[in-house]
Amino acid sequence: MTRIRLHDLDFDLFIPEAEVNAAVDRLAGELRTKYNGKRPLFVGVLNGAFFFAAELMKRLDIECEITFVKVASYLGTSTTGRVTDLIGLNERIEGRHVVVLEDIVDTGNTVKHILDALADHHPASVSIATLLFKPDAYKQTIPIEHVAVRIPNAFVVGSGLDHDGLGRNLPGIYRIIEQQP
Ligand code: 5GP
Repeated sequence: MTRIRLHDLDFDLFIPEAEVNAAVDRLAGELRTKYNGKRPLFVGVLNGAFFFAAELMKRLDIECEITFVKVASYLGTSTTGRVTDLIGLNERIEGRHVVVLEDIVDTGNTVKHILDALADHHPASVSIATLLFKPDAYKQTIPIEHVAVRIPNAFVVGSGLDHDGLGRNLPGIYRIIEQQP
């Protein structure tokens, strides 16, 4: 078992690189079938999705575009509540088939905010594609249509995911080793 340490935490290899690649292969096939001829616009959510986005794009031999956004979330007025801004979204979204690329969907709050923000731009359709999905942690009702790997409710790093800045460059997925009390 390959064990690594990032800052103060230890992690064990959980999903080897070959398995991650096979899951992305399968997902690329799914997206090819669904979006061929529709010129989808992929919207990668930084920082974490850079890795998944690159792996997916290598495998998608259809006409498509990709852009990246950062999510800024802040409290608005009492009437607007929490506001989510998609920083860097310069493309025209109206009428486009948009696929949001996420590294991981946990509670789903982030994708919910992103989808609400995208809806203001009137896309033809929006779906979510994520490298990792934690079904047991998910609290939203929006369907997460395209999932490479479903994982249990544990903290993971690697393949774009970090622990306080470290670990994004690790191929494969590493799971935290819970400390004994
Ligand atoms: P949400 O709960 O809104 O679905 O996820 C919020 C964010 O928490 C994700 O975009 C990701 O940045 C972070 N996150 C959730 N679970 C994990 C995890 O297991 N590992 C890492 N590194 N980040 C996570």
